[in-house]
Amino acid sequence: MSLSCCPTALFPPLPAGELPAAHPAVPAEVQALMPEMVALRHHLHAHPELAFQEESTSQIVADCLAQWGYEVHRGLGGTGVVGRLVRGRGARRLGLRADMDALPITEATGLPYASRHAGRMHACGHDGHTAILLSAARHIAESVAFDGTLQLIFQPAEEGLGGGRRMVEDGLFRLFPCDAVFALHNMPGHPVGTFGFREGSFLASSDTVVIDVVGRGGHGSTPHLTCDPVVAAAHIIVALQTIVSRQTDPRDMAVISVGAIHAGEAPNVIPDRVQMKLTVRAYRPEVRAALRERITTLVQAQAHTLGVRADVDYHWRYPALVNDGPWTAYARDVARDWLGEAGLMPGLQPLTGSEDFSFMLEACPGSYLIVGNGTGDGQGEGGCSVHNPGYDFNDAALPLAATYWVKLVQRFLVDAPLPARA
Ligand code: ZN
Repeated sequence: MSLSCCPTALFPPLPAGELPAAHPAVPAEVQALMPEMVALRHHLHAHPELAFQEESTSQIVADCLAQWGYEVHRGLGGTGVVGRLVRGRGARRLGLRADMDALPITEATGLPYASRHAGRMHACGHDGHTAILLSAARHIAESVAFDGTLQLIFQPAEEGLGGGRRMVEDGLFRLFPCDAVFALHNMPGHPVGTFGFREGSFLASSDTVVIDVVGRGGHGSTPHLTCDPVVAAAHIIVALQTIVSRQTDPRDMAVISVGAIHAGEAPNVIPDRVQMKLTVRAYRPEVRAALRERITTLVQAQAHTLGVRADVDYHWRYPALVNDGPWTAYARDVARDWLGEAGLMPGLQPLTGSEDFSFMLEACPGSYLIVGNGTGDGQGEGGCSVHNPGYDFNDAALPLAATYWVKLVQRFLVDAPLPARA
């Protein structure tokens, strides 16, 4: 679908009664965009697209950006879009990233704008993140004077397939170099109008291991004539627990969970092989590397002593998300100067989820922050957890998060000093 003549024509403005109440900290010009931008968010919600299939979403994003005067680049990571706006002669270059993909979940909200596609749903609020960044993009293009380069990154496939990594591998920061890059994610359970920042490790790495334990099967009545992979697998599972409990510094977070185990069919048959699938998580890259080495060594040693073979297929998936210290403090100051201490989430701890924005932070310094989606259980109150069929992004958070991006751009690309480094 092309929107080239008027990008919001497909999204007739919502009547005031269908919009969340205006927040006093949101500028009137940003609030004035909400009838159209919330309608756009609802359109994205009704038409969710899975990883690397965000054809319609990326078309809407590209058409909007082009209409508002951005130079638009498409194709990084397949359906990725980058919008670039250069003003003045300033050398500073800022990147802001949103994710666009949905999840393979059947929606159960009953909302008028619920997914029209069974088995696909915006259950993580990436429709909201896209609408937030587009709202900021539009306001900045229309009303914000700045000096430098603003690069808005809309990525595919955040959910598990590494669209962020693909964009980096396709040359994102070579084509669009940034001094710093930032991303945000909504967070149910925190009040709308609060923002969360944390220096250092914030989200866990997430890796997958497939272990094939290969023995020699036979009749269940004659185990001495077999090499039983089931008993060996049981030993391996128990031994794996010692990596976290006995071989990892107790001050470091590490998780090894065996989530799947498959072997055999019949009670009187010893099978030839057992397959196990593990998820492995850590905050520190050193711990992540040590877990791989320990798992591989321990599994093969256990197998050897029990007379079977173990093939360990270790899949590096997402690295831990590590926020740059000075840029995170800088990002926090933007929220504090705007909303005061009441706008900050106190005592934010690292989260055990993972995020492929970590690939962008490995290539470019920056920070990932979270945005309160609300605490209530009711419709539109935003407290339902992400990845739940009853979840919906809270539209009340849209103008606040868009305003946050605008404030960050104003500080970064206008006149304020950048953070000092040791
Ligand atoms: Zn998400």
